[in-house]
Amino acid sequence: MYHFFIDVEIEALFKMENKLKICPRCKGKNVIDMGDTIDCVDCRLEFEKIDIKTLKSNQILSISEKLGFVKSIKNNQTNK
Ligand SMILES: [Zn+2]
Repeated sequence: MYHFFIDVEIEALFKMENKLKICPRCKGKNVIDMGDTIDCVDCRLEFEKIDIKTLKSNQILSISEKLGFVKSIKNNQTNK
């Protein structure tokens, strides 16, 4: 009985670790662990691990996309 719950927890942890080894964008496995972020060799995008842990893969933005988003907001403000 107890073994069942432990197995489920280990499986959840294992899945989380696997998620951090797969690019959320191309689902490729050519990712480099950078500590707080992962780098995808194929898309040349960097993703924050916290995003991968908390967001669904179709909601995850790369760091450069996030910066572009912030810049576009700033540009819109200065253009007014
Ligand atoms: Zn990728």
